[in-house]
Amino acid sequence: MDGLKSAAVQLARRTLKGAAALALHYSGARELLSAIQRRAVGGRRVLILSYHRVVGDFAEEAKHGLPTLNIEQKTFRRHLEVLQESHDVVSIDDALCVLDGTRRAARDVAVITFDDGYRDVYTKAFPVLREMRLPGIVYVPSSLIGTDRRLGHDRLYLALSKMVQRGIPPMGVGVGGEGERWLVDAFDGGSSAYLALERLISRRPTPALLRLAEQLEDRLGLTDVRVPDGQLPMSWDMLREMDAHGVATGGHTADHTVLTLQPIAEARREVAQCRAAIEKNVKKPVRHFAYCNGYYSAGVVEALKSEGFISAVTTEDMPNVPGADPFALKRKVLWERSSTGVLGAYSKALTACQFEDTLMMLSMQEPVIGARPTRFDEPEGGAEERLSAHG
Ligand SMILES: [Zn+2]
Repeated sequence: MDGLKSAAVQLARRTLKGAAALALHYSGARELLSAIQRRAVGGRRVLILSYHRVVGDFAEEAKHGLPTLNIEQKTFRRHLEVLQESHDVVSIDDALCVLDGTRRAARDVAVITFDDGYRDVYTKAFPVLREMRLPGIVYVPSSLIGTDRRLGHDRLYLALSKMVQRGIPPMGVGVGGEGERWLVDAFDGGSSAYLALERLISRRPTPALLRLAEQLEDRLGLTDVRVPDGQLPMSWDMLREMDAHGVATGGHTADHTVLTLQPIAEARREVAQCRAAIEKNVKKPVRHFAYCNGYYSAGVVEALKSEGFISAVTTEDMPNVPGADPFALKRKVLWERSSTGVLGAYSKALTACQFEDTLMMLSMQEPVIGARPTRFDEPEGGAEERLSAHG
C-alpha cells in the first residue's frame, strides 16, 4: 500500500472512529456496552495502557523521530483525567491481584506503563503522575540506561527517512549483502520509512539490525546527528527517584531485542543480563517485563519465569479479564493521534471510547497477536508477515 493511499485510509478510519465515538459518548451507549462486556467476562477488567515518549511539542518532535511513539504532555494529562472517570489507576502488582482474584476492585482498574526508558518520561510524564498521585511502571532496555546511546528503532527510522527524503533506492545506499536484501524487501511496494521500519523489526534479528543501522548512518552521514534530549535514555538516578514515588522499573531486554527472533539460548542470556543490571542499579527485585515488539513464545516465557519475573506485557490491544495469563497481558498502545477526533483536535469522547474498549467491541480496531514459536535455530530473519504495534 503506498503512502498516500495509506494516509487516506487512515483518515477515513479516524473520521469513522471519531464519529462513532461521539455518537456513543453522547447517547450513553458507551457505558451500556461497557457494562454488558464486564458482565460477560464475569468481573472487573484490567486495562493496561502503553506509552513511549511524553513530549512538549508533538509537531516539533515529529521532525526528529518516530511520531507514533509520542504524546504531548497536555494530552497525556487529559488521558489520565478521563481514565480516572471510569477506572482506578493501580500498580501492576495490584492489577495482578485483581486478575488472580486475591484482590477485589470496586471499579475496573488501569495500569500506566511506559516502554523504552526515554528521558522525557522522567521530565514530562513523571511530574504529572506525581501531581496526580498515580503509580506506573517503566520497562527499560537495561544496557542503554545511563548512556547517550539511541534506541535501534530511532536510529533506523532516521536513516530510512533520510533515504526516502533524498530519493535513494534500497540498492543505491551501498550497504550490500544481506542488509541490502532486507532493505529491498522492507521498501517493497514503495513503502514509507515507517512501514519499512516495521517490516525490518518484525522480521530481522535485532543485533543484525543494529549493525545495519550503523552501516546506514555511515553511508548517509548521520554518525554525529543530534537528537532532542528527551529521545535519549534515562539515567539510573532518574529510575531510582521514580521508583521511590511509585513508578517501578520493569525489564525490556538489554538491547531492546525482539526475543522471538533470537535463538532461545541467546534470549535467555539477554533476559538474565537485563534482570541483573536492573537489580544491581535500582536495588530492588525486578518482577515485571515487556516484550519488545510485543512478540513472545513459550521458550521466552520459561526464560522469564526462571529469572523470577511474575508478569509480562504484550501489545495485544484487548482488556485483561479475570484468570488472564500473567505472561501474556494485553495492552493498549497510545500516542498523540489515538485521541484525535474528526476535526483533527483532541476528542474526549474518542479518548473515553479507547479506555472503555468500545471501538474494539464494535470491530473498529483489531488486536495484533504477539504469540510466536520458540526459536531453537540460528537467527536469519524469518518470514514474518504481520505488522505489529510498537512495544
Ligand atoms: Zn520497546
